[in-house]
Amino acid sequence: MVPEALAEHCRRCGSATTRQIPPGDTLPRATCPRCGAVAYDNPKIVVTCALYEGDRILFVQRAMTPYQGCWTLPSGFVESGETLGEAASREVGEETHLKVRPDRWALYGVLSLPDLDEIYIAVVAPLPGHDYAPSAEASDVRVITREEMVALDLGYPAPTVQLLVWLFEGIARGDLHEPGERLYEMRGRDPAAGDQVS
Ligand SMILES: [Zn+2]
Repeated sequence: MVPEALAEHCRRCGSATTRQIPPGDTLPRATCPRCGAVAYDNPKIVVTCALYEGDRILFVQRAMTPYQGCWTLPSGFVESGETLGEAASREVGEETHLKVRPDRWALYGVLSLPDLDEIYIAVVAPLPGHDYAPSAEASDVRVITREEMVALDLGYPAPTVQLLVWLFEGIARGDLHEPGERLYEMRGRDPAAGDQVS
């Protein structure tokens, strides 16, 4: 996997790392023989953003590879230091020029893809207006119905398209904001948290 190559050198002191199982651990990790730092390989977090209005959801046409020309929801990797809501608002801004307040997002669902080493977290919010426009990342932006979505070339495998159909059905029922679906986000470090280098 890619993280192995990324961890050839210690992020803390720059020394060449070795693969070994740290004490009390079960898997080999890139470990620094000089300062003892351990690099953990964890899945990337992707936020995918569904902005809805009535029975319609905003889709973007990807301007870049992979899936160039296919239609998807605005999505992207969460950057270190961002909350999930901030990442969602940034991605939507970059792709469509729409401004969404980070606290407007609610949780829709979580999709775990271990073979891609990714975890998708889907969030939903009301469409904040119609000032959307194409961008360097999205060659077209449309707010479409479920029927219109089915006719498009989607950049998703079939099981994921089923999730999108359920999303449209949830929007049609108006039940996307059940208690417990909000995002719980907080700033500040836990001083008891360890020294994980990843
Ligand atoms: Zn080191």
